[in-house]
Amino acid sequence: TQTQLVNQEKMASLGQLTAGIAHEINNPINFVSSNISPLKRDLKDILELMEIYREKGREEFNEESKSEIEEMEEDIELDYLIEEVEQLLNGMEDGAKRTVEIVRGLKLFSRVDEQDVKKVDLHDGLDSTLILLNSNMSGKIKLTKNYGSIPQVECLAGKINQVFMNIISNAIHALSDHPVEGREPELTIATSLENGRVVIKIQDNGPGMPPHVRDKIFEPFFTTKAVGKGTGLGLSIVYTIIENHKGTIKVESEEQVGTTFIIDLPINQN
Ligand code: ADP
Ligand code: MG
Repeated sequence: TQTQLVNQEKMASLGQLTAGIAHEINNPINFVSSNISPLKRDLKDILELMEIYREKGREEFNEESKSEIEEMEEDIELDYLIEEVEQLLNGMEDGAKRTVEIVRGLKLFSRVDEQDVKKVDLHDGLDSTLILLNSNMSGKIKLTKNYGSIPQVECLAGKINQVFMNIISNAIHALSDHPVEGREPELTIATSLENGRVVIKIQDNGPGMPPHVRDKIFEPFFTTKAVGKGTGLGLSIVYTIIENHKGTIKVESEEQVGTTFIIDLPINQN
């Protein structure tokens, strides 16, 4: 049945998403945790040094103990320790911030449960999708955001985010699996307000599609991907969601040039 198919695609994209998030969070968290033990060791050394100072401080401050302290300082290399502690802490801070960022992306994205039509900032949905897909881009795709000033759009945020997820992950797939030789892979996302409707353009300079493929992409089960790689349901779901929001979706594609999806949505649903 249709519901089963939709669920199947949902599960597939959920799996993809989960793998992406796990990968994304793994790096910064590993970094944070690998900094902990050298930090503990450094702090232990620093504390030991402080202990020695305290002991010595109680004694009469003669020339002898002074030179003794200097010797110890040389041994423990306090300056070096302090610098290292700072570096380790900065690294941990970066890792923790990145993790917070990912969780923020996830929170913004996963509004799938929201059943009510609400005014939302579509840039949040685009950004959270990009945060979650960041690891799939593996730093090789140049991303350009040309966000215009657009009003909030009345929609089911979770559904619209699914639209962004499906289109952008297709683009990333095209760019990374079939890049055009001699050209840097690029993904460009633009938004604008045109004739009272919000327009979202998602463009890649990937392999593009021949006309006979382009004409079928919104059909359920149409896929050019290997068995197990694609369900062919992503864009048919996209089409339905956009239609349900009284929007339109168009595709422009040329072989060896690239593909652009153009969505337009009304600002209000009434
Ligand atoms: P799936 O991704 O599971 O194949 P979709 O419905 O998401 O199913 O996409 C259908 C087909 O459309 C893909 O198999 C691919 O051939 C084509 N396609 C979609 N987006 C792009 C793109 N950005 N560049 C090239 N081909 C694309
Ligand atoms: Mg797809």
